[in-house]
Amino acid sequence: MTLRPAAPGTGIIFRRVDTGADIPALWTHSVDATLCTLLSNGEGIEIKTIEHLMAALAGTGIDNAIVELDGAEVPAMDGSAAPFVALIDRVGTVAQPLPRRAIKVLKAVEISSQCGSAALLPDHGFSMSFEIAFENPLIGCQEMMVAFEQDTFRTELCRARSFGLLDDVERLRAAGLVRGGSLENAVVVSGARVLNHGGLRYTDEFVRHKLLDAYGDLYLAGGPIIGHFRGVRSGHAHTRMLLAALFADPDAWCETTLADAADLAAMAWAEPRRAHA
Ligand SMILES: [Zn+2]
Repeated sequence: MTLRPAAPGTGIIFRRVDTGADIPALWTHSVDATLCTLLSNGEGIEIKTIEHLMAALAGTGIDNAIVELDGAEVPAMDGSAAPFVALIDRVGTVAQPLPRRAIKVLKAVEISSQCGSAALLPDHGFSMSFEIAFENPLIGCQEMMVAFEQDTFRTELCRARSFGLLDDVERLRAAGLVRGGSLENAVVVSGARVLNHGGLRYTDEFVRHKLLDAYGDLYLAGGPIIGHFRGVRSGHAHTRMLLAALFADPDAWCETTLADAADLAAMAWAEPRRAHA
C-alpha cells in the first residue's frame, strides 16, 4: 500500500493499481461484508478491511489522499491504526487552500438490530460512546465515552487492536477468513487469558477498538462529523446503515465547513500537523 497526496476536494480515493479501478472512500460504496468494512466499485472490484486506515486518516486530519493498493485488502499491520499514524506522522501533512468539509448532525438518527444499535445525535463537537457486552469473562461489559480534542485519537484509541476469541479464530481459519499469524494482527483471548505476549495495551482495549472501528467507518461520511456517535454492541454493518439513514433524511444533517471559529475550536483535534522527523 502507498499513500499519495491529492489535490483539495479529491477526498480519500482507493486505487487498485492491479486493476486500474478507483473507489471513493464513501458510504455509498460500502457494501455488506463479514467482519470488516468493504468498498466495492459495483463491478466486482473490492477493497476490504479499510476501517483502521480510515481511522488513521480521520485522526490525522487528512481529507485528500490516494490510497494505492496492489490487491483487495489493506495490510492488517498489528490490528490497530498505530502503524498507519506513525507513517503519516513521519512524512507530515499540509494545510490545503480550501476549507475542510464537515457533516453536522441536526437531529437524532438511530438504527437497531437484534444484536445492537447505533445512533448519531447533535453535539457541538465530535464525541463517541460505546458499550460492549461479551460472555467472555475477560472482555465482559465495557463502556467508554470520548470527547475528541487534539490528540484524543492518538492517545485513547489509535493503538487498540482487533480482537477475537480463540474458538472463533479457529472457526474463522477453518472457513478461510483468517490467514497468517493471528497473534501478530489481533488480540486473541482464550477464556480469561490473553494469548499475545505482552498482554493488553489498555485494560479496556476491546471497547477502545470498537470505538476505533466506528471512528474509521464514520469517516466514510466524506468528512469529519460534528455530532455524537453512540454504539451499543454495534458493528461495521450498523455504522454503514446508520450513515445511510442519516443521509436519507435531509433534515438530519447539513454540510458545513470548518471555517468558522466555533467549528474550528470543536475540531482542533483534526487540524493538520507538521512532522518533526
Ligand atoms: Zn477493527
